[in-house]
Amino acid sequence: MVGTPMLFIRFGGCQAACERCDTPRARTQMSQFPIHGPAAKVVANPVKVADLTAHAMPLLRSLPFLAITGGEPLEQPGFLSLLLTRLSETGKNVLLETRGFHHRELAEVIPRVDVVALDVKLPSFSGRRLPVNATKDFLTIAMQKTCYVKVVVGPDTGEGEVMDAARLVADVGGHIPFVVQPRHDEKPPPPGEAERLLVLITQLTTILPDVRLIPQVHRVLRLR
Ligand code: SF4
Repeated sequence: MVGTPMLFIRFGGCQAACERCDTPRARTQMSQFPIHGPAAKVVANPVKVADLTAHAMPLLRSLPFLAITGGEPLEQPGFLSLLLTRLSETGKNVLLETRGFHHRELAEVIPRVDVVALDVKLPSFSGRRLPVNATKDFLTIAMQKTCYVKVVVGPDTGEGEVMDAARLVADVGGHIPFVVQPRHDEKPPPPGEAERLLVLITQLTTILPDVRLIPQVHRVLRLR
C-alpha cells in the first residue's frame, strides 16, 4: 500500500490509553477538525455522516483508495458503517487501519472494507500485555479480506515481543504479511540499530514467509 494515493479520514477517540501514544491528538473527539488539501477548511464536530460524505466525495474523485484511521474507528461502528455505505457508491477501495481490539465491530463493517491494516501495539509501547486472544479473533475476521499486520519498532523495542507478535500471526494465518516499521524519531537512530533491524527481520522470516521492513512514510514526509 505504500505510495498509493489515498484520502485519509481520521476518527477522533480512542480508549486504549497506550503509554507511549504517538497520536495523542486523536485520542479525544474535538469540537472541530481540519480538512487538508486544495480546499482546506475547518468543520464543526461532531459532524453528521451526510455532511462528512459531502466533504469526502469530491476529494475522493481522483483517488483510488479511502483510508479510515484513528484514534480507533471501530469504537464508532455505527457511524463508520453508515459512512462506508454512503461512500460505497464511489466504488473506491477502503483501507481500515485499527489496533484490532474490536472483532465484533469489525464483523459489522467487513463487507464494506477491502484491506484491513492491523496495527499491533507491542507491550513496550502500550504498557499492556499482547492481547493474544483478541488479536487472533480479530485476524480471523480480517482474513475475509486482504489484511496485513504492522508493528512499530524503536531502539527500545525488544526482539522477543516482536517475535511473539509474529508467532501470534503465524498461528492464525501464516500467509499474512508482517510489516516492521522502524519508528521515525526526530533524532537519528543509535549506532547499530539498522543492523539490529536486519537481524530481526531475518529471524522473523523463520516464523512468517512475508516479512517487510517499511519506514513510517507519513512521519518522514511530516504528513498530518
Ligand atoms: S491505539 Fe493509537 S490512538 Fe489509541 S492510545 Fe494507542 S497509539 Fe494512541
